Amino acid sequence: MDTTLDHDAWALAQDAADPLARFRPEFLFPQHEGRDQYYFVGNSLGLQPKGAATAIAEELARWAEIAVEGHFRGERPWMHYHAALREPMARVVGAQPGEVVVMNSLTVNLHLLMASFYRPTRERPAILVEAGAFPSDRHAVESQIRFHGFDPATDLIELEADEPNGLISLAAIERVLEEQGHRIALVLWPGVQYRTGQAFDLAVIARLAKARGCAVGFDLAHAAGNLPIALHDSGADFAAWCTYKYLNSGPGAVAGAFVHERHARRPDLPRLAGWWGHRPETRFLMGPAFDPADGADGWQQSNPPILAMAPIRASLDLFDAATMPALRAKSLRLTGYLEALVKAHLDAAIEILTPADPGRRGAQLSLRVRGGREQGRALFEFLAANGVLGDWREPDVIRISPAPLYNRFTDVLAFARTVRRWTTGG
Ligand SMILES: *Cc1c(COP(=O)(O)O)cnc(C)c1O
Repeated sequence: MDTTLDHDAWALAQDAADPLARFRPEFLFPQHEGRDQYYFVGNSLGLQPKGAATAIAEELARWAEIAVEGHFRGERPWMHYHAALREPMARVVGAQPGEVVVMNSLTVNLHLLMASFYRPTRERPAILVEAGAFPSDRHAVESQIRFHGFDPATDLIELEADEPNGLISLAAIERVLEEQGHRIALVLWPGVQYRTGQAFDLAVIARLAKARGCAVGFDLAHAAGNLPIALHDSGADFAAWCTYKYLNSGPGAVAGAFVHERHARRPDLPRLAGWWGHRPETRFLMGPAFDPADGADGWQQSNPPILAMAPIRASLDLFDAATMPALRAKSLRLTGYLEALVKAHLDAAIEILTPADPGRRGAQLSLRVRGGREQGRALFEFLAANGVLGDWREPDVIRISPAPLYNRFTDVLAFARTVRRWTTGG
């Protein structure tokens, strides 16, 4: 790796040799002064695949042409539309197809899955999350605890970081489970923590939690499409993720949900039911009794929003063509390059909060400007004014996420050069 900032031969050569380079032209880039923005916010809202508009237009046309018949006729009848997303989505998260369904939005799915898998008792009422969890997840678990008549003051356990920069070791997770596992009903843990970018070993966390009799769910908002996940093998009970971050499916896009195969045929599990979760063979007999479909499908409630599902199809086609292992291979190099440039040239100005071990992170590096919050804001705004987009997370973090589907090595170099211009007075 060549970490010089002054010529770009090395970065250009990497881009030229990049086996995934053909995917960049599949995306639409916001423009800055006549060129593509340097876009590092795929962790927040992934770019629009060109195929998204086509996929939506196809369904609009079918609605116009055959209206209600679209449920049953044509290449992708709406009645089974979600089923076409099942296999490609399962490949993204390392699940069996029957374990995955695309429905609702992330927080809604967390609630629906907690309705089944958070079953607190007097002896075991608690939920374990990481301290500083994403607010929506925290609101969700806190409200679930109250909903069941328990008290978040005692029954919401928020594990504090035990390593610098807000990082949490597996040893700390093991310790809290040893000490308090007997009263924990549910462990809800992120695949990748949104603020620090730390990636967790899901299989180890699930094993530790299971050994203490806890249910385990994962929030994969920042993990899905970012790094390979072996969700089935992890043994988690459930998981949920949004599709508008690394999965590029558009603002507020329909989310993913996973229910482990061992719960696939459990009509005994309490759940908040709707007609779309009813077994499809008998759904339209319109009987009063709820007979849940096998697998994750049995957690659906409403018939799916087809126009909102269409961009997911376009996006997953790209993931299928690129494959997660190839994306990860590029991502390791791309984020490694970003890290190396920061360390070689920008270390006096910026510290990296995300773990240095590539096995403990995905694409994102969380950066903190050493001068403090005001300096951090100033750098963030300087970057944006120069067509380099990261995102800001209070109180003082700039997140930069090179997405291997569409970011280039030269993008990373442009980021580092722009930061250096700021440190040397613009
Ligand atoms: C992005 C994100 C959310 C957003 O929730 P929505 O229900 O999609 O609005 C929730 N939790 C985490 C951890 C996230 O990263």
